[in-house]
Amino acid sequence: MQITNESNLPEPLYQAIVAQQQQHSVGEADISCTQLIDAPLIAWLWRNYGDQVVEDAADRLWVLYGSIAHSILEGYAGLGHHVETEAIATVDGMRVSGHLDLLVMPDGTIQDYKFTSAWTVGEAKKNGKPEWERQLNVYRYLLEQDARLSFSPVKRLEIVAMLRDWGPRHAQDGLKPVEVISVPLWEQERVEAYLRERVRLHQAAFAKEIPPQCSPEERWATPTTHAIVRPGRKTAVKVFQDEAEATAWQQQYPADGVEVRPGENKRCLNYCPFGKQKLCPYVAG
Ligand code: SF4
Repeated sequence: MQITNESNLPEPLYQAIVAQQQQHSVGEADISCTQLIDAPLIAWLWRNYGDQVVEDAADRLWVLYGSIAHSILEGYAGLGHHVETEAIATVDGMRVSGHLDLLVMPDGTIQDYKFTSAWTVGEAKKNGKPEWERQLNVYRYLLEQDARLSFSPVKRLEIVAMLRDWGPRHAQDGLKPVEVISVPLWEQERVEAYLRERVRLHQAAFAKEIPPQCSPEERWATPTTHAIVRPGRKTAVKVFQDEAEATAWQQQYPADGVEVRPGENKRCLNYCPFGKQKLCPYVAG
């Protein structure tokens, strides 16, 4: 990946972002836990077209801020605290690695720091966050399987979420500046089945000329909707996903109009570097 400085960031900031990006490596493993959980097509694209990706340093500032917070916290580990532990395990021939932010022993707690938005944390508290659950359960598995380490058993999984945009208005939603969110522990069989399936998908992707498209969940796809609009009103009266329901409404209220709002693949459009640069085979050039 090449990092540009189109936004003219001060030189130390730009250099820190470049240096931090170069540190990204899976070490002796074949794949990181983060890559394994994510779309196989994205890992395939990094492997084949990673050197063609160009990102501006300003787009990586949040990554840098998160890493600053991690580095400072590393320096304040207490008794029984193990920071930045690398755990590796082989699953069906693929070596998977994870970097654990903090392991508290003898409690057996894995904590992962997230430097993220209040909206993300609010949603995670309400509805759970599958990526976090998958990540921490895979970490636990790797830690317990890695013969170099003797930190088992793991009894608790926690996300320590630092809300980077927290303000007093978020207190009204019951959010604190830092939220410690407990993550459910999966049964061993469930973690193993999940890992084996992910490894199978990634191995299949690597063997293909072009892997299948990312799933709607991986593309952060939003569905096409049909909004009922009424003259004189700024906002929609109602929004339907089903076209037939919108038509039925309009038959009942003929003065209303229907506005089709096409769904989007938000990640492809705005976040995935392969989508933004049209390197992805599923994004029209
Ligand atoms: S552009 Fe979309 S489909 Fe292509 S790799 Fe990125 S997220 Fe997946």
